[in-house]
Amino acid sequence: MNLHEYQARRLLGEFGIRFPAGEVATTPDEARAIAQRLGGGGGGGRGGPVVVKAQVHSGGRGKAGGVKVAKDAAAAAEQAARILALTINGLPVRKVLVVPAVDIASESYVGVIVDRASQRPVLMVSPAGGVDIEEVAARTPERIHRLSVDPRYGLLAHQATTLGFQLYRELAQVRAAADIMQRLYAAFYGLGASLAEINPLATTTGGEIIALDAKLVIDDNELERRPEIAALRDPAAEAPAEVRARAAGLSFIKLEGSVGCCVNGAGLAMATMDLVKFYGGAPANFLDIGGSSSPQKVVAALEIITDDLAVRAILFNIFGGITRGDDVANGIVQATAQVPLKVPLVIRLTGTNEAEAVAILTAAGFSALTDMDEAVQRAVALAQAPA
Ligand code: GDP
Ligand code: MN
Repeated sequence: MNLHEYQARRLLGEFGIRFPAGEVATTPDEARAIAQRLGGGGGGGRGGPVVVKAQVHSGGRGKAGGVKVAKDAAAAAEQAARILALTINGLPVRKVLVVPAVDIASESYVGVIVDRASQRPVLMVSPAGGVDIEEVAARTPERIHRLSVDPRYGLLAHQATTLGFQLYRELAQVRAAADIMQRLYAAFYGLGASLAEINPLATTTGGEIIALDAKLVIDDNELERRPEIAALRDPAAEAPAEVRARAAGLSFIKLEGSVGCCVNGAGLAMATMDLVKFYGGAPANFLDIGGSSSPQKVVAALEIITDDLAVRAILFNIFGGITRGDDVANGIVQATAQVPLKVPLVIRLTGTNEAEAVAILTAAGFSALTDMDEAVQRAVALAQAPA
């Protein structure tokens, strides 16, 4: 589950990481009032300077024009109006965070992720933080330093200090960064996060080390025992398809490709996406309809996939174990009766109640393949065929 920056700041604040205090606005007037309040003595009562920041579940807000410095309260209202009208990576901005602006001398990156290779949390730090960190990782990976953490002991002081020296030379700055890293690791672990990140960890022109952005992703499996965090979910900020999928009991993740995938079982769904890539296509989504798939789930799945305008072909890959092939077939027939398809459909189906499924599909004018490679190749070819 994604959290907004303002929520992440508050949660990291509970672990002792300090941020410039800000407030959330949903209108330009609110942003103006906040900037006025935060303005302090400077500017002759005109408020500011502040930073107005889109609160949206997407990285790269800065590059998308979603983070702007405003010199006074009037400018904050103007920037808020502009940012609240933005859509960033398909997500409309509904809230902005208004925080006092800081004079930045340099920007570092500190983050904790779950690393599948070492099966441990990994601290990642870089002195080349800021909005281009992805490029740093791609082009100059030697500027990113990693430390895998033994979860039995956590991030120890000497380890954090060693990482701090990768970022700064001044001992006071090294210590400040090390302290923040230890708190960030504690928050990552304590909150059940799969990612905890501060970028930028800024050095001010006065030499102070201060966190200016916060990103937290909570592992969905941790939410059941953390109801207070689960309650922070903001469905209005999530992709509508993901909200619908969750309500329907589907695991769905939107991707960038053109082959819509509807698969039973997470492992088979991953294998299907791999095979789509292998045959030169790109999956439009990960979608696991689960083990015991009722026709209603299939209807919901097809609706979600067909709503994606990038989808050029749809691939069903069903290996019936607990999932009954006839349930899936009925779902496909019902869904396509309700919402006629505008793109070709390829069905691969084997296993439980296969014969019944094939009979249902054939009666409705569909055909089904049994070979997975053949089905994937066909779906990729259809997705790439000229319109
Ligand atoms: P992101 O692009 O979504 O990661 O958003 P950030 O919150 O990291 O902001 C992007 C960039 O805006 C930062 O890397 C900074 O360069 C700049 N920025 C953010 N806050 C401030 C601030 O208080 N003062 C100044 N001068 N720049 C800021
Ligand atoms: Mn950032």
